[in-house]
Amino acid sequence: MISAATAPAEPPRDCPLCPRLVAFREEQRAKHADWHNAPVPSFGPVSAKLLIVGLAPGLQGANRTGRPFTGDWAGDLLYATLLKFGFAEGVYDERPDDGLALVGARVTNAVRCVPPQNKPETREIATCRPYLTSEIEALGHGAAVVALGRIAHDSLCRTLGVALKAAPFAHGARHALGAVTLFDSYHCSRYNTNTGVLTTEMFESVFASVRAYVDAR
Ligand code: SF4
Repeated sequence: MISAATAPAEPPRDCPLCPRLVAFREEQRAKHADWHNAPVPSFGPVSAKLLIVGLAPGLQGANRTGRPFTGDWAGDLLYATLLKFGFAEGVYDERPDDGLALVGARVTNAVRCVPPQNKPETREIATCRPYLTSEIEALGHGAAVVALGRIAHDSLCRTLGVALKAAPFAHGARHALGAVTLFDSYHCSRYNTNTGVLTTEMFESVFASVRAYVDAR
């Protein structure tokens, strides 16, 4: 049952639930004492009607700065796009104190702790899912959700109790899933953009659809 809108739960700074990620976190704390090196909280207003879900914090991006998609290439493309389509205001300057504000949008990750090689394990995605569920439960009826990549898409489907076959992932796909509408995009990672899997135009096309959907509500 999805209802609006209590504040979503955030994991504690020393969340102990994923031993492999805890060990990696401790390793990074020893190497980089000035980095965030902890679960990365969601960014954006709790009242948002758009939730954007990535995979996990990047080692030198969100894990370093403490704000989702902040400090690496994926954030350059994501926040430029959110600014272009009116889901953000201010200036994105790769720092959590850059003053950037999200407008009716919120950004989170399916897994809150940085995984080695950017690859969370299946059980880690499942273990962190209650935090994603909490984000979904805070959305009102008719909200839009953008999945950045297949893993985020699959975790969202499981959160919503939707069979993966009933809502197959595809770039540009749109799935009406009861209380929310899910929009799919390839992840805006440097790898995907460098290899041409995802172009700026392809990414903007998804957010143009999301903008139109949100404006029509
Ligand atoms: S990934 Fe999620 S559940 Fe696992 S340790 Fe981090 S915050 Fe906790």
